[in-house]
Amino acid sequence: MAKIAINIKEGKVEKESEIIIGIDLGTTNSLVAYIKDNTATAVKGADGKSTLVPSIIHFTEDGGIVVGDAAKEKLITDPQHTIYSVKRLMGKSYNDIESVEQYFGYKIIDEDAESLVKIRVKDKYYTPIELSAEILKELKRRIEEVLGATVRKAVITVPAYFNDSQRQATRDAGKLAGLDVLRIVNEPTAASLAYGINKNQEQAQTIAVYDLGGGTFDISILQIQDGIFEVLATNGDTFLGGDDFDRAIVDFWIKKNNLDTTGLAANKSLSQRIRLEAEKAKKTLSKADHFESIIENINCTITKDEFNSSIESLVQRTIDACKSALKDAALSVESIDHVVMVGGSTRVPLVRQNIATFFKQEVYDKLNPDEVVALGAAIQADVLAGNQKDVLLLDVTPLSLGIETVGGLIDVIIPRNSKVPTKVGRQYTTSVDGQKNLKIAVYQGERDLVADNRKLGEFILKDIPPMPAGLPKIDIHFILDADGILTVRATELRSNVKQEIQIKSQYGISEEEMAKMLIDSIQNAESDMKTRALLEARNEANNIILASEKFVVQNSTILTDEEKKRTLSLTNLLKEATKGTDKDVINRAIEDLNTYTSPLAHRAMDVNIANAIKGKKI
Ligand code: AMP
Repeated sequence: MAKIAINIKEGKVEKESEIIIGIDLGTTNSLVAYIKDNTATAVKGADGKSTLVPSIIHFTEDGGIVVGDAAKEKLITDPQHTIYSVKRLMGKSYNDIESVEQYFGYKIIDEDAESLVKIRVKDKYYTPIELSAEILKELKRRIEEVLGATVRKAVITVPAYFNDSQRQATRDAGKLAGLDVLRIVNEPTAASLAYGINKNQEQAQTIAVYDLGGGTFDISILQIQDGIFEVLATNGDTFLGGDDFDRAIVDFWIKKNNLDTTGLAANKSLSQRIRLEAEKAKKTLSKADHFESIIENINCTITKDEFNSSIESLVQRTIDACKSALKDAALSVESIDHVVMVGGSTRVPLVRQNIATFFKQEVYDKLNPDEVVALGAAIQADVLAGNQKDVLLLDVTPLSLGIETVGGLIDVIIPRNSKVPTKVGRQYTTSVDGQKNLKIAVYQGERDLVADNRKLGEFILKDIPPMPAGLPKIDIHFILDADGILTVRATELRSNVKQEIQIKSQYGISEEEMAKMLIDSIQNAESDMKTRALLEARNEANNIILASEKFVVQNSTILTDEEKKRTLSLTNLLKEATKGTDKDVINRAIEDLNTYTSPLAHRAMDVNIANAIKGKKI
């Protein structure tokens, strides 16, 4: 197994030391940090004011893209072209986000509930990966300006609960921004690293990381032993944070001034001013005992006690989540050795007090809670650069391993830099009715198309019992042992048909070749992403074309002639679109067809159900 970039016993990772940056890619704000004079330091913008880059992307009228503070200003004046909270969409399908869609002010597309969401801005479609890459490019620009040098390598943090596809999406975003993402690190792990909790500890330590930001709350219970972090449990609320504290203050003022809420809601600019004043009051009350101001004759006064009572129940909700996390980890409050505070809202004194009381100990809150995750990422980056000898890191796999899927794309199953040994499983299905065999081709590399990666081997899962397409459940497991031997096992779960091969994944690859594969992947990231997006759009289109044609035949008595004609003509337009090379044209044709057929499908379903019930003898 290759031990490049991580074996501290053998000293440096690279022949020459190179700066590796740490990035906190947040829902509301993002930051970039690096090690300067042995200290983790977050980088400020050109104005020297703040280390925070709002995670907001604005598409200007002339086709340009701005990120950060300049984009934030456009949230109110041009919401359709201003994208925020894109992290909430990373690696998500429409199915996953349907219930919270109204929360987003921009247009999220995907009629096919299973595939990944896209965001429509003007006439173009963007994936959350492409949008996150814009934020990462801005951070890269920011640090390169400070360092006066090009940066190529990074560590990026993600929430502990992020699944494989969300982690992979974050990795892809880095790649697209021209960064080789050496490691994806859990945010609570990074926060613990920033406080040095991992250092000089013989015994296992249990840590609670309490992260209350602007819009989200996460509690993670970690265990660290021999330098290895393990997440024992996570809990939280994806819609609870400092914004709710602001709202509680606004509600307090509304009551105090007997304001008419509908009238206030209609006056957008006044309600916006009051909301901003509430945030100012909240921040003031983190230091002072009262806040006073008047906005258009509205008395905006609040004392600390009044504020505390308004947010008491919100803070209690976070404590309830802590209780659940402890329960899941089968731990009591007494077994927590350290409590770490992360996120701007942990500056609120009541939050710190109540958490300290609940965990029966003082909390770690000396570092800037907005920066602590990025600082930890920078420390992890420095470890990977081989500059910190007292931190032990695990062996990792040097290149990603995956299988070929429809359209010649690679589906990464074990991402590069995953610690070994590891075992990852994923489920697939067939694409043709009655399909008996499934070819499983295993590849290694960082490019999106299998043709650009290295083939390690292939085998055929034979004798799948005939079933309609989509019904077989084919489990593919990658088992990578500590010596780099990869076993790929495929099982059709309904019939228990099984097949496996063993591959020496790294056999025959020199470190130079490995380095070349990585560099290629970065240099070609942009064109790879475009090809992937086009192939994915075509795959989706082909599925929809087949489904639409089937739909017209099966529901021929329910649909009118005009409806059949229009459905087929939209289907033909989609077929034409798939012949071209513009993914946006294909996506638009998909959207047109879906918009037209959705109500027809609902009607057909109602009629079919009614018929089924009618025919039943009870
Ligand atoms: P984050 O998402 O971690 O950047 O946290 C941002 C949240 O922290 C926002 O709701 C801010 O209003 C809040 N915040 C920032 N500074 C303070 C402060 N001094 N006191 C209370 N809340 C703050």
